[in-house]
Amino acid sequence: MKDDMQYGEDYKNIPATSKESGKFEKLADHVWYHTVQIVNLCYVANESNNVWVLVDAGMPNSSGEIISKAEETFGKDNPPEAIVLTHGHFDHVGSIVELVEHWNVPVYAHERELPFLRGEKAYMKPDPSVQGGAVAKLSGLFPKDPVNLGDMVYPLPDDGSVPFLEEWKWIHTPGHTPGHVSLWREKDQTLIAGDAFTTVKQENLMDVTLQKKDISGPPRYFTPDWKASHTSVRKLRDLNPVRAITGHGLPMENNELSKNLSYLTDNFEEIAVPDYGRHVENEE
Ligand SMILES: [Zn+2]
Ligand SMILES: [Zn+2]
Repeated sequence: MKDDMQYGEDYKNIPATSKESGKFEKLADHVWYHTVQIVNLCYVANESNNVWVLVDAGMPNSSGEIISKAEETFGKDNPPEAIVLTHGHFDHVGSIVELVEHWNVPVYAHERELPFLRGEKAYMKPDPSVQGGAVAKLSGLFPKDPVNLGDMVYPLPDDGSVPFLEEWKWIHTPGHTPGHVSLWREKDQTLIAGDAFTTVKQENLMDVTLQKKDISGPPRYFTPDWKASHTSVRKLRDLNPVRAITGHGLPMENNELSKNLSYLTDNFEEIAVPDYGRHVENEE
């Protein structure tokens, strides 16, 4: 029941923000992205714009802002059909309980992400010792306990389809989390990458605040499996996306995207993987 939903025990407001916070812009046909503090979420509609899905659920206490962008874009009486999650980190499910309560809609995520969305399993503790900067240092404060969405959360369909969005496929891109997914529209090669890679050095406070564009791997302080993460980035590069919006940072397109994504894929050890931190010594 939706009344049983609750956030993890360490759920809290995180004051980190960026100069892009509040921005709501069109990324491609029927796709908008919204920057909430330091994270991007997407609003994705079908051809007619009548049926739409929210991708990810922002930072803690941002439901009001998300609902008002949704109403401005799709009309007051036109809630989404569902919320699809790239993964369940706190900055992607920060307002999900209020949103599901408000809209009364189902949530979809990869099967391997469900334990983290049903209150069964906590994520890795963020790693403040990881190489990278002040956000990494602060990450010890970030919530890692799982939200519990009870029976409002369902596994994504096995056939790679995205509920309510015929043109889209989900792609399993694990590494950052076990059930991380990216969303892909072949027709115009549009990618919603989640945290599979980012376009800002998410560990660096100044870069995050100014949203400085810089191709990067997944946020280091929250990534336990670098080998899987590299495989996932290669998989996304091989799709040849024309434009991408990542969970953190500004969108990239065309040449800039293909050049940077290839550069990241081919130099993943140097660019993405930290030189030190809890999850690099463990690598075999
Ligand atoms: Zn994440
Ligand atoms: Zn994130």
